[in-house]
Amino acid sequence: MTAQIIDGKALSRTLRQKFKLQADHLRSKGIVPGLAVVLVGDNAASRVYVGNKIKACEECGVRSTTHQLAAHVGEPELLALIQSLNDDDRVHGILVQLPLPKHIDMRRVLESIDVNKDVDGFHLYNVGALATGNSIFPPCTPYGVQLLLETTGIEVAGQNVVIVGASNIVGKPMAMMLLQKEATVTVCHAKTRDLAQHTVLADILIVAAGRPNLIVPQMVRTGAVVIDVGINRLEDGRIVGDVDFDGVKEKASWITPVPGGVGPMTVTMLIENTLSSALRFAGEGQGIGALGWDAPTVPTGA
Ligand code: NAP
Repeated sequence: MTAQIIDGKALSRTLRQKFKLQADHLRSKGIVPGLAVVLVGDNAASRVYVGNKIKACEECGVRSTTHQLAAHVGEPELLALIQSLNDDDRVHGILVQLPLPKHIDMRRVLESIDVNKDVDGFHLYNVGALATGNSIFPPCTPYGVQLLLETTGIEVAGQNVVIVGASNIVGKPMAMMLLQKEATVTVCHAKTRDLAQHTVLADILIVAAGRPNLIVPQMVRTGAVVIDVGINRLEDGRIVGDVDFDGVKEKASWITPVPGGVGPMTVTMLIENTLSSALRFAGEGQGIGALGWDAPTVPTGA
């Protein structure tokens, strides 16, 4: 069996075209959807990620503002900036790029963001809302994975889903979302004994550990769906995921590539969360966001 490829880049392209129309619709009502990005310090990877997010905003007609602060900035100054963004009606989404320098209390910063502008979904309130199935801002990476599964027509309800990785930004929210969709979810982490014993039972295997080649063909059930969230830069400069792509694609039914799988979807879902926030500001209910995502109805002639 050779797996079919789940093309996150292509789905992102389609979604972004639809989002551009949503943004145009909002503009026609006098609302310019706005995302504020806060970047502290000079982390090279963070700069690349922020650059991708700003580019996606431009593509979709979302106004973005970047607030670059020095690595030695004091926490009070950072909190004051966030407060001013909370109070700014032109801002519908606030994103603080992680990681933050060690002298800053990340939790305190994330919890200072207005829950109605928390487009990353990392505020405790939104984490709790996700756990109870009422999220308005699903965290972007798991949200992107969920959408890749849904749009590919992969049934989640009743399936054995095994997630490798239990971080707050990927593994745990992913588990909550798929539990909400009635999957039977197992979460593995670095202390899991005999990882393969769990992964071979997966109908859907989602890997987010940050370890190249962690998943080899013997660990995958024939016909499984394999979603590789990992992004690892090898010494020779190549970017790879956590899955031995060439080996596993001969056993899986569907597989995401790295790059071009989950990565573009993460950025795309950030735009979605920002637009759904702007739609809520405009009084248009839940907007296009929230867990029960449907293909957005694109307004015509508005
Ligand atoms: P993280 O915070 O470092 O968490 C990694 C998780 O994987 C932890 O739960 C860890 O277990 C587990 N783990 C590590 N080694 C393992 C092993 N050998 N066996 C089983 N579990 C293991 O990382 P993250 O932020 O979740 O990111 C994970 C990967 O996804 C990274 O490569 C990152 O670059 C990538 N990522 C991609 C996107 C995207 O858009 N595609 C977005 C976010 C992250 P413990 O909890 O026991 O330590």
